[in-house]
Amino acid sequence: PGVVVAIDGPSGSGKSSTARGAAKVRELRYLDTGAMYRAFTWWALRNGVDTADPAAVAAVVSRPAIVMGMDPSDPTVRVDGTDVAQDIRSQEVTENVSAVSAVPEVRARLVALQRDLIAEARSEAGGIVVEGRDITTVVAPEAEVKIYLTASAEARAERRSKEVRSSDIAATQADLMRRDLFDSSRSDSPLTQTEDALELETTGLSLDEVIALVAKLTDE
Ligand code: C5P
Repeated sequence: PGVVVAIDGPSGSGKSSTARGAAKVRELRYLDTGAMYRAFTWWALRNGVDTADPAAVAAVVSRPAIVMGMDPSDPTVRVDGTDVAQDIRSQEVTENVSAVSAVPEVRARLVALQRDLIAEARSEAGGIVVEGRDITTVVAPEAEVKIYLTASAEARAERRSKEVRSSDIAATQADLMRRDLFDSSRSDSPLTQTEDALELETTGLSLDEVIALVAKLTDE
């Protein structure tokens, strides 16, 4: 059966680029779980659901069909058949996703979906690289390789600014810190660091260097 590589870390730690790059190098599938929380949030906003009301969000939890394409060269996200890859990166989705992902019913549904996709990749492909906040702890604690990616707040803000093509690094850093604080201040925070995950501090490393490190770890 295939190998599972679980990667967790805060926003802007380089998780997505690293996980995708390592999946390409090792010819594994790739799953961005943040994209799933964003896809559900996009659907909720579009359908007039009050994202600040956990009961309203929980009531519609099973409505949208979320389909993930796991080819690392062309990862896709579809909600009820619509390609939402671009739309889920909008400011509006980014501002609402933390509150939506804090709803237990949402987490239960998406974690179950993620486990199904991991099982499928284990049996039908060489395996999978999965990234998010709770992959090493909740979604796939049995993963063969577990990595916690970190980087300085400045390095993370600089990367995220490039991703969203914003020149305002200070505003991006403030936004990241606000989201980190929200994600980590909840008693049931999705992002917790465990001792059995290998911590990889990436400040000062190039993306290619980090990908090579993760690919090497996956080899052993
Ligand atoms: O990784 P990304 O920044 O796209 O994730 C968006 C949001 O989704 C995070 O800020 C977090 O609130 C939520 N998330 C989560 N659990 C995951 C992945 C993402 O709660 N496994």
